Amino acid sequence: MRKFLIANWKMYYGPVKAGAWIRAFRRERLPKDADIAVAVPHVSLAAARASLGRATIPALAAQDVHWEKEGAFTGEVSPTMLQEFGVSVCIVGHSERRHIMNETDEMVGKKAVALQKAGIIPVICVGETDAQRKKGQTKKVIKDQLIAAITDLAADGKAPAVIAYEPVWAIGSGKPCRPQDAREVHDYIRELVSKTWGPRYRDETRIIYGGSVNERNIGEYMTTTGIDGVLVGGASLDPRIFALICRTAAPA
Ligand code: PEP
Repeated sequence: MRKFLIANWKMYYGPVKAGAWIRAFRRERLPKDADIAVAVPHVSLAAARASLGRATIPALAAQDVHWEKEGAFTGEVSPTMLQEFGVSVCIVGHSERRHIMNETDEMVGKKAVALQKAGIIPVICVGETDAQRKKGQTKKVIKDQLIAAITDLAADGKAPAVIAYEPVWAIGSGKPCRPQDAREVHDYIRELVSKTWGPRYRDETRIIYGGSVNERNIGEYMTTTGIDGVLVGGASLDPRIFALICRTAAPA
């Protein structure tokens, strides 16, 4: 299974810094046997693409999208607009959007479907809060979020969804989830995928981990069965560190 590695800059880097990041990242040695994407703020996509030139690594990703094609949705960007621009991957359901912007499971599902229809890979984030984990609700939360997001998705569409397990308490906290604990949740996600899409997709679906991944702990995740890549926030702001993470995840 090819590893899927995605940087998420969150609300950092306007066009000037975005261009510089891409140029610095391109100077690094990058693995060929992995899918590498970088999720940049919408306003920085043009600069990132200009710096990429004809290079296709990293793939350009967006951090969010609206589900409608067009309309009176001030401030929003549609999947077709992203597609026209050459974006091939988009994060949906990031916990910061669920918890700060009140995005619901239903909205995340609509976004994922709309992206896939536009040929863009949805990276669907799911994960429990610290309080939910402590109350033993992890599986219930994951199930509710995941089922709402994947039920209407085509399992074998041209842009097969990637699922990111991102425990909310591990994001940006410097307290990563232990690989064996992440593995348990990944196994559960595989079970749900298999029940929803059919057994074939249990192993064909890429399930990645996100939450305080860095260049020191990436190796532990990549040697854990069932973790098919990572979503990296804070540590991806430095292009050399993200390149190092990519090289460790998928040695050339
Ligand atoms: C994220 O942005 O989803 C994330 C996992 O951030 P960090 O790597 O900083 O925890």
